[in-house]
Amino acid sequence: MNSRRDFLQKFSLGIGAAAFIAGAENVSAAAPKIADAPKADKQLRVALMGLGGYANIVARGMKECKTAKLVGLVTGTPSKIPEWKQKYGIEDKNIYNYENLQEIKNNPDIDLVYVITPNSLHHKHVLQVAAAGKHVICEKPVADNAKQAREMIAACEKAGVKFYIGYRLHFEPHTRELIRMREAGEFGKIMHVNNYAGFTIGDPTQWRLKKNLAGGGAMMDVGVYSTNGARYCTGEEPVWVTAQESKTDPVKFKDVDETVTFQLGFPSGIIANCGCTYNFNHAERLHVMGQKGWAEMNPAFGYGPIRGNTHKGAIDAPDVNHQAYQMDGIADAILNGKPDPNVTGHEGLKDMLVIDAVYESLRKNGAKVFIKQ
Ligand code: NDP
Repeated sequence: MNSRRDFLQKFSLGIGAAAFIAGAENVSAAAPKIADAPKADKQLRVALMGLGGYANIVARGMKECKTAKLVGLVTGTPSKIPEWKQKYGIEDKNIYNYENLQEIKNNPDIDLVYVITPNSLHHKHVLQVAAAGKHVICEKPVADNAKQAREMIAACEKAGVKFYIGYRLHFEPHTRELIRMREAGEFGKIMHVNNYAGFTIGDPTQWRLKKNLAGGGAMMDVGVYSTNGARYCTGEEPVWVTAQESKTDPVKFKDVDETVTFQLGFPSGIIANCGCTYNFNHAERLHVMGQKGWAEMNPAFGYGPIRGNTHKGAIDAPDVNHQAYQMDGIADAILNGKPDPNVTGHEGLKDMLVIDAVYESLRKNGAKVFIKQ
C-alpha cells in the first residue's frame, strides 16, 4: 500500500471504502450506470496513444461508454498489440506507432486521439495529432510549461480540432456538486481553501523521477490536482504564488521535486494553502471554507469513490466510472455541439501558469511570484 496506484485506486478496489461507507450517514445507495443507457446513434471513435498504466484504466472504463468508443491504438511497443486487439476488438487498420502516426489523417474511422504518454512528450504528440486533423485529449499535466501549452492550443485552433485535458474530476458527481454549491453561493463568501495531493512513489528508475520525461516531480504530477482544486473551489484565478520544497530524500529526488507546499493568492483576497508529495501516502484532501458553509472532500482526487461532507451533511451523489463519464461527456460535446465541458486546453493552461509560478518561486527561495494570465 505505498504506490501511486494506491493513491488512485485504493478506494475503487474496496480497501478503505467499506470502512468509510459504514461510517457515512448519507451516502447514495446505487449509482446509475451509463451501461444501462442505450448506445448513442453516432459514436466518437477514439484511439489511445501510449498503452501504459493509465491507458489500461481508460480502456477498461470505456467499455461502459455509450457515446465514445475505443477503436484505435498508437504504441511504440508491438508486443502489446495482440492483447489489446483481443481485449478490445481493435482492427489492424487502426493501429499506429509513433513513426507512422501522421498516416492517421487518412483514416476516416478515427475521430480523436487520446495522448496518455509521459508528460514531456505531450507537447510533441498533441502537435502531431493536430497536424493529422484529429481531435485530441491530452493527459494532465498538459505540458512542461505554459509556453508549450499555448503552442498546443494554437496548433489545435489552427487545425480546427478540439483540444481537451483529461480532467476526469470535472465529470465526477461529488466534485460537480461541490462546484454547484460554490456557484450557487451556498458556502457564502469563500474565505479559505486547503488541499493536499500525493502518494509514496515506488520504482526509483521510473520516468516520473526523470525531469526530461516528467517535466518535474510531485508538483507536475499531483500538484495539478491541488491547483485545479483550489481554482474550482474559489472560481477565481490566482494572481500570485509562493512555494517551498522539502526534500528529505535527495538521492531518490535528485532530479525532481519531492514535497511542495504552495500558497495561491486570489483577487478577492482568499489565500489557498496547497501541497503535494511523492513521499507519503493518505494525502488526498480538499477543504473549502466560506462564511456560510464548508465542504471537505476526502478522498478527493482518486478514481473513486470520492467522498464529501459539507455543513449540510454528506454529499449524496452517485459513484461512477470517472473515465467513462469523461469520455462520454467529451463525445457528447463534440458530436452534439454541446458547450465544451470545463476541460479544454485553456483550463490546462491556467493550471500550467500556476505550476510555472510555483517552480519560479522555488528557484527564488520562496519569493512571491505574480502570474500574468
Ligand atoms: P506509464 O509509464 O504507465 O505509460 C506511459 C506509456 O507511454 C508507456 O507505456 C508507453 O506506451 C508510452 N511511451 C512513449 N514514449 C515513452 C517513453 N519515452 N518512456 C515511457 N513511456 C513512453 O504512465 P501512465 O500511464 O501512468 O501516465 C501517462 C500519462 O497519464 C501521464 O501524463 C500521467 O500524468 C497521466 N495520468 C493521468 C491520470 C489521471 O487520473 N488523469 C492517472 C495516471 C496517469 P507504448 O509502449 O504503448 O508506446
